[in-house]
Amino acid sequence: MNVYMYEILEDYQYAETDAEREEIFSSFCRLIWENPNQRTIISRPVTFRISPDLLTTEIGQIFSSYTSLPCTVCLSLTGSRDFASLIRQKVNNIYTRYFDKTICRKKDYIDLLNLPKKLYFQWLSAVQKNNPSWTASPQELSRTLENAVAQAELIKEISARETMTLSWEEFQQVTECYFRKLFDHYQPLDEFQNSQNLIVYASDWNEDNFCVGYFCRGLEGYFRNYQKKYYGLYNVNSRRGITYGRCSCGNLFLQNRQHNRRLCDSCRKSARRQSYQRYNRKRA
Ligand SMILES: [Zn+2]
Repeated sequence: MNVYMYEILEDYQYAETDAEREEIFSSFCRLIWENPNQRTIISRPVTFRISPDLLTTEIGQIFSSYTSLPCTVCLSLTGSRDFASLIRQKVNNIYTRYFDKTICRKKDYIDLLNLPKKLYFQWLSAVQKNNPSWTASPQELSRTLENAVAQAELIKEISARETMTLSWEEFQQVTECYFRKLFDHYQPLDEFQNSQNLIVYASDWNEDNFCVGYFCRGLEGYFRNYQKKYYGLYNVNSRRGITYGRCSCGNLFLQNRQHNRRLCDSCRKSARRQSYQRYNRKRA
């Protein structure tokens, strides 16, 4: 594929007819959707092997139930450097972050899944060096590991609640609308430099990196706004100085610092209704 992205964007801008413009746009979309860099979900369990001579010890026995913890990930990097693969990767990552309930990318979650392995190697090194630094009793260790797995499960549930619902096909349509805006608002690098008074070194940058960066940042922003609209929080006029809170049900809501809100509107309503009911029952 020897076509550059800035050429596509410029051809689009200077197209003589609408039909030509549409043709350019739809072949760009095809390049992205038919790119071999498909969204790939793989099972990548956190595993370790217990040294056979330690397997029969009480602590070794406890660790043995945790030697393979299931974990599902979605590949978030690509080795390809062409614009279509890079933009497709960005699009894949956005889908995973906002819409995929099966993948949890939170650091706490990953850390908790890795805890048994980490503690095992601490224990192993203490045993090997005859080092008294390991002080946890078998009961304490059991409890710690059980808690870690339960806590990880909880984080995964919360993270699933925080994703929005949108099928891949619907997501493609939304993304194409954003592609369209990016095509329409594209400013070539030299014009961009003039308007921003930026000095860009040609050796570090090339026009295509610039276009890919422009698309990636643009998509990030559009999907951040998509999320605000989804939760009914989008306000064109006040973009700054607003903080958002996350309710335990997964909803995003406007944070009001003075009142230190914890619940979204609908959870607040149902909590209020429940407390009225309790009050009325008591009076009845
Ligand atoms: Zn809520």
